[in-house]
Amino acid sequence: MSTTAADRLIERLPDAGIDVLLVTNLVNVRYLTGYTGSSGIALVGSDVRTFITDFRYVEQAAAEVDPAFDRHRSAQRLLEGVEEALAAGELRMGFEAGNMTVSDHAKLRELLPTRIELVATSGLVEELRAVKQPDEVAAIKAAAALADEAFARLIQGGLTGSTEYDLALKLEYEMRRRGATKPSFDPIVAAGPHGALPHASPRDVEINRGELVVIDWGAQLDGYCSDCTRTLATGPVGSDVVDIYELVLDAQLAALEDVKPGAVARDVDSVARAAIAAGGYGEQFGHSLGHGVGLEVHEAPRLAQPSEAVLAAGNVVTVEPGIYLPGRFGVRIEDLVVVTGDGRDILTSISKDLTIVD
Ligand code: ZN
Ligand code: ZN
Repeated sequence: MSTTAADRLIERLPDAGIDVLLVTNLVNVRYLTGYTGSSGIALVGSDVRTFITDFRYVEQAAAEVDPAFDRHRSAQRLLEGVEEALAAGELRMGFEAGNMTVSDHAKLRELLPTRIELVATSGLVEELRAVKQPDEVAAIKAAAALADEAFARLIQGGLTGSTEYDLALKLEYEMRRRGATKPSFDPIVAAGPHGALPHASPRDVEINRGELVVIDWGAQLDGYCSDCTRTLATGPVGSDVVDIYELVLDAQLAALEDVKPGAVARDVDSVARAAIAAGGYGEQFGHSLGHGVGLEVHEAPRLAQPSEAVLAAGNVVTVEPGIYLPGRFGVRIEDLVVVTGDGRDILTSISKDLTIVD
C-alpha cells in the first residue's frame, strides 16, 4: 500500500517532539484528509486519525474524507471535540502556531485537561506539501495547461481598446469555461506605467497601442493552482524597452537552468538578481524570484534571499524576475516549474519571445 499524506506526517512527529498534531489550517486539513469544506479540523498521530466537522458538513465529509480517519461531529465549536478523540494519559499535542488565533488557543487550553500539553509547531504539513506526489504534479500540470489555453484565447481577441478590467474578466471567464474551479488569484492585467506596480489591480482604463502589458494569472483545478506571467507589447516598442525585456528574459532563463535537486533556493534567486544587476536594474527588481505552488498559489519553498530551502524533486516553483520602472512600464516573465530527479520540467508552454498583440 502506498503511503498517504497522514502516514508521512506521522513519521515526522517524533522529531517535532509531539505525539499528535491538531491541524486547523483548512488547506492542510484538505491535504491530509481530502475534505474540501470550510469547517473542519483533524487530529493526526500514531494512534489517532480523527476528522471533526459540524452539522452543515457531515454529508460532504462522508463523501470526501479518507476512510482511514474517524469522523466526528461537534455540537458547538470544533475544538470542543478534540479531547474525546485523544487517548487517555499524558500527551504532547502540537498545534499550528501560524494558524491558531490567540483566543482559540486560550479556549483550547481551557477545554483540555492538564495531562495534554500544547506545543506550538510551524510548517510541519507545509513542508510535506512542498514535495509533490506524482498525482499532484499531474493536477498542477493540468491547471497550467488550462490557464495557457485561456490566455491563448484571450490574446486572439486582441488587447488594444479593451480595458484592463475587461481583459481580466475575460481571462477569468475563459478559465472557468474550460473547467477551472476559479482563478488561483485575481488576474493582473497592467498596461504601460501601471505595469510598474508588481501587484497592480486591473483598472477601468483602455489599453493603448504601442505599450507593454503585464498579464499574471492562474487557474485552480481539482484544488491545485497554476501561476504564470507574460509581458506583451501592443505594437512596436522602442529598442530601450526591448533591451529591458531581453534582460529580464535572460535572467529568467539563467535562473531556470539552476532549478534542480540540491540547488539552494537563495542561490537560484541570486542568479537572476546578479543578471539584472549587471544590466543596471538591480534596484528595480524588488521582489523575490519565486515561490512554491500547489494547493495554495504561494507556498513553500520560496526562491528568495532569506530562504534556506534546498530544492528537491517534486518541488513546484515559479521563476519570475521583473524590472519595474515607475512612471514608464514593467516587465515580468514567470514560468511554473517542477523539479525532477535530474533537473526541471517547465509546465508553462507559452512563448517568451516579446510578442506583439494589437
Ligand atoms: Zn504570477
Ligand atoms: Zn507567482
